[in-house]
Amino acid sequence: MTAEGHLVVALASVIFAKRAALTPVLAQGDWWHLLPAALLSGLLPDIDHPHSFLGQRLWWISRPVARLFGHRGFTHSLLAVAGAIVLLWLQPPCSQVPADVLQGMVIGYLSHLAADMLTPAGVPLLWPCRWRFCLPLLNSRHGNQRERGLGIALVICALWFPVNASPAAAARHWSAQLIAIGQRGYQRPGQGWECGEGRK
Ligand SMILES: [Zn+2]
Repeated sequence: MTAEGHLVVALASVIFAKRAALTPVLAQGDWWHLLPAALLSGLLPDIDHPHSFLGQRLWWISRPVARLFGHRGFTHSLLAVAGAIVLLWLQPPCSQVPADVLQGMVIGYLSHLAADMLTPAGVPLLWPCRWRFCLPLLNSRHGNQRERGLGIALVICALWFPVNASPAAAARHWSAQLIAIGQRGYQRPGQGWECGEGRK
């Protein structure tokens, strides 16, 4: 996936995470913290590729990482996410990263892994285990067009998602909507989900 695609997916993910109030910190988070954190970390896993957007700029990090792990190795795993969280958590008190920046970075990083899973190469989520997880919706022939379309659709969906004050409220809102839709479908003979004698 391209850097542009990763930026758009990271943008959609952080908008969704804040609007859906995935955590209290994200719900109360400052957009000026969340957006840069998510966009930057949305590109970070590709530091393992010297020709990537960040790899070209931070080549002194990118080249050793690429030699050590190869492209889509350790940096594309859940172990990297866990390691980064632990490192940030263990930092000295004088350089504490705000909680919303930290959570924005986690959202951006995870959005990158999810987006790469949509390509045929997949990602080794459980690295060092070599299993690759993928749902190859984006093939190389139409990858860029689909990537752009998917990214725009995700941003629209994220903006459309209702703002909720807490994760519990988000869960209640969506479960209530799903139940209401289910009830409407069930209560209309011949128009709903049920099948049977009424349709002759
Ligand atoms: Zn990647």
